[in-house]
Amino acid sequence: MRTILFDAFGKVCDRCGKRVVLDSLENRSVAQEFIHINHTCGFDSVIGDGLILDIDLCDGCIKELLLPFARISKQGWLSNLER
Ligand SMILES: [Zn+2]
Repeated sequence: MRTILFDAFGKVCDRCGKRVVLDSLENRSVAQEFIHINHTCGFDSVIGDGLILDIDLCDGCIKELLLPFARISKQGWLSNLER
């Protein structure tokens, strides 16, 4: 069983092990780019009925694993700045 890796002291990527300690503004910025997924699996899930999927990913792993398949868009306020 894993320990909690998403806490007030920093974040650790569950895939590559990248650890970011929240000891500077730069590291806080890096930590903000982590994605945390928590999903309760439903009936007939390939993962398992009612199991909970929980994962933290760093920006590098997100880029490698998810970006090829993700739908990327700009937030409304950012789109308004470009007009
Ligand atoms: Zn990673």
